[in-house]
Amino acid sequence: MVVTRFAPSPTGYLHVGGLRTALYAYLFAKKAGGKLILRIEDTDQNRQVEGAEENLIKSLEWAGLSFDEGPHVGGDNGPYRQSDRTELYQKYSQELIDNGKAYKCFCSSERLEEVRQKQEASKLPTGYDGHCRGLTESEVQSKREEGLSHVVRLKVPKEELIVFEDIVRGKVKFASHLVDDQVLLKSDSFPTYHLANVVDDHLMGVTHVIRGEEWLPSTPKHILLYKAFGWEAPQFSHLPLILNEDRSKLSKRQGDVAVEDYMAKGYKKEELNNFIAFLGWNPGGTREIYSLEELVAEFDLNKVQKAGAVFNLEKLNWFREIWKQRQLKEYAEEKGLNIEAQQTKQGGFKLNVIGDEGRYIFAEKLHEIVAEHLDSKEERDELFLKRCLYAVKDKIVSEPQKVNEFISFYFDAPELNNDFFLSERMGVDLPMASKALAICIKELRGSENWDENHIKEVLITAIKESGLKNGQVLWPMRVALTHVEFSPGAFESAWVLGKEKTIARLEEAAAAIV
Ligand code: GLU
Repeated sequence: MVVTRFAPSPTGYLHVGGLRTALYAYLFAKKAGGKLILRIEDTDQNRQVEGAEENLIKSLEWAGLSFDEGPHVGGDNGPYRQSDRTELYQKYSQELIDNGKAYKCFCSSERLEEVRQKQEASKLPTGYDGHCRGLTESEVQSKREEGLSHVVRLKVPKEELIVFEDIVRGKVKFASHLVDDQVLLKSDSFPTYHLANVVDDHLMGVTHVIRGEEWLPSTPKHILLYKAFGWEAPQFSHLPLILNEDRSKLSKRQGDVAVEDYMAKGYKKEELNNFIAFLGWNPGGTREIYSLEELVAEFDLNKVQKAGAVFNLEKLNWFREIWKQRQLKEYAEEKGLNIEAQQTKQGGFKLNVIGDEGRYIFAEKLHEIVAEHLDSKEERDELFLKRCLYAVKDKIVSEPQKVNEFISFYFDAPELNNDFFLSERMGVDLPMASKALAICIKELRGSENWDENHIKEVLITAIKESGLKNGQVLWPMRVALTHVEFSPGAFESAWVLGKEKTIARLEEAAAAIV
């Protein structure tokens, strides 16, 4: 059975790179009908952060990644926190010593520092010089009696080519003489990452190790450890780095890197998971919108790229936009609204809700999307606000944070700029605009029904009778209603404003032109 794991060190929060590792491990395990384990690698006591584990688990749960085993769900291979397993590491470290695969090293930090400086001065690769590698049993004994503290180091073979097949990177080779005699157990008897990681992966039956590329240099050490124990090594997959736009390694300085930051900004798990899944992988073809279940069905480690993947916020927002369109459609369907939905090439939807009542219900969901960004204005007419939100629904899903900008002209129109009326393409000059506004005023004044379709019907009929082109009337009408260059169309804007305000703005504009 496939068994994989996510093995974060609890350093405070879940990094987006960590989420990608966890997501890939989840997708891989689920697709194979295997098992996913959460293991907390907390042996570096200096880096412990209060509440870090809870925080990690919270972010993973938010993303919908369920684990078959872990500190939060239990399981047969626990404990799942390395700090609760220290005796095991000590036992296995002793086993290596007994088999001559590891040795006790009594070198002081001063000596190690001296060695390092000398190596640096002679431009040699730095590393442990093997000083304690050949200590006899009795030498070890006497050093212990002297009360000297020690670490345990792996006896790395001098000349061995370490080769392994990485699912992502293909054949990887390391020469053992470049691998340091790695510390396995520190002087406080706590294991290093290497020992704990290998012992746990073995004992937990992990068949596939999926982790970031930054762990690639550790892998030869792990392979040597598996050999020293006489254990079969799991299959490795090292995922490409995640990069900033300038191709430097993704860092906090250039934007948010914690999953919780995106949670706080209102991103939804579908949006983030979909985006993160595509950071270094794609199923081929042009389709990009996938739910978690669909990702499980498609995921393939063999299709993970080697090259670094750029974290592009615009792309994340694109995913958000498409997912929001889908969520809105689902919402409309759940509420039984009368809608026309047109699927876009990207997998989203353009929606039209028919009837005011449905639009008001629909606007409640829009309100939810923009709530945190919306300027609170006292005495704002709720229905008016809902109509505004409905009119800019497509813009809201792509840039919810700009909602105030999108709707402000319905509340307070900016000063009218007559130049906006002019459109060569539409064939509109000021006299034409004036004529157009007169038609609109005349027709709409008499209209009792303010349904958008009705407004449209009335005007289209009148335009036909006048012999003008649609654009020659509707363009000036839209400018008169909104005073801005770009806005929702004339009919929709009239519907938003309501009859009274519509007529007032048309009259005001008509007066300003002559
Ligand atoms: N504890 C390591 C980390 O924080 C785990 C690396 C691995 O998966 O082996 O990423």
